[in-house]
Amino acid sequence: MISITVLGATGSIGVSTLDVLARHPEQYLVYALTANRDVERLTEQVVQFNPRYAVMADSSSAERLVGKLASLDVDTEVLSGVEGLERVSSAAEVDYVMAAIVGAAGLMPTLAAARAGKRVLLANKEALVMSGHLFMEEVKANGAELLPIDSEHNAIFQSMPQNFVSGLEKVGVNKILLTASGGPFRTMPIDQLHDVTPDQACAHPNWEMGRKISVDSATMMNKGLEVIEACWLFHTSPELIQVVVHPESVIHSMVQYNDGSVLAQLGNPDMRTPIAHALAWPDRISSGVENLDLFAIAQLNFEQPDLDRFPCLRLAYEAISTGGTAPSILNAANEVAVDAFLGKQIRFTQIPQLIESVLTEISVTAADSLDQVLAADSEARACATERVSAEVQR
Ligand code: NAD
Ligand code: MG
Repeated sequence: MISITVLGATGSIGVSTLDVLARHPEQYLVYALTANRDVERLTEQVVQFNPRYAVMADSSSAERLVGKLASLDVDTEVLSGVEGLERVSSAAEVDYVMAAIVGAAGLMPTLAAARAGKRVLLANKEALVMSGHLFMEEVKANGAELLPIDSEHNAIFQSMPQNFVSGLEKVGVNKILLTASGGPFRTMPIDQLHDVTPDQACAHPNWEMGRKISVDSATMMNKGLEVIEACWLFHTSPELIQVVVHPESVIHSMVQYNDGSVLAQLGNPDMRTPIAHALAWPDRISSGVENLDLFAIAQLNFEQPDLDRFPCLRLAYEAISTGGTAPSILNAANEVAVDAFLGKQIRFTQIPQLIESVLTEISVTAADSLDQVLAADSEARACATERVSAEVQR
């Protein structure tokens, strides 16, 4: 039996993961489930999977969970806080860790899993964007296995040669073609973007996801974060990553070889496919996803990304080219900006403006230590929060 911890079990990726795990009870055992504050949903999941541990992000939610579980017939132990998360990510009994917390909050437990040499199923792209160099070093030094869950990176992984370790040129690859749906505002007249609401931004045409990544898809910051993620995962530079807008989200990304071959991975837009792939790799298991019906799809389209419409994508390319703590600053400013937009404190079009102003304000340093990464993160958050307050008072 493979024993697995699901970080962020109550979210979109967490729920899809549990759906796949429930199809293979003879293969996988749930060791721990974690959530931020959604005690109700975690209670239901604990009853269904009977894990050894359940972890809530804060102690008052943990107390509520203990109260709920007391009347039920389960022997799950409740932990809380970052210590609790790190403990269930690194415990000796754990084989795999699904890293599906959203945002910088996932960094420490995801890093703990890498340090403990686990198979890390990485959905939490923000952790890698912030700490890329360090994270990859920890994976290597501790013999961890890093398998991408992000559908594009999972597709790239599947389209790369089996023997790929590093150096695209050594395996005859000259470009990674990273597909993007273009989100809900791909064709909206640009002057209307000023007035879009959080609910419009979260209504993604192809994927059902958490609210933060949905807004990131609408600004295309998600693709920007994915460019950075791909640079680290595939040891490459941003010039070798071409974003291709593909509104149908059927091709999940492609790899272009020197002989003119382009290898792609296709599938219905359902995260259970990359989740099942990473769980079973190098084997294959069923995921619950329907077979692809090419006759129903009939047509696939491709476009260049429009950097005037989506300045966040340009900012992300600039941040990874700058290097050091620039991606951490970008990520932190984006988290604050998205939160402020979801809370109706700033407009959609102010998201890239706010991020750019924070990137201009804060000095970039090397990102060789966790302290440097965390310092950049908190400095950028403070600066972005100040800008939001100034905006609210205007
Ligand atoms: P979500 O908002 O639906 O779920 C987030 C999970 O993290 C929840 O379980 C929540 O309780 C937990 N969480 C939130 N804040 C926390 C905190 N401070 N401490 C501890 N736990 C916390 O998000 P999602 O859509 O499932 O995305 C999760 C991650 O996966 C993100 O990094 C996202 O970019 C990535 N991802 C998601 C999708 C998708 O289809 N949803 C696709 C690719 C990548
Ligand atoms: Mg993706």
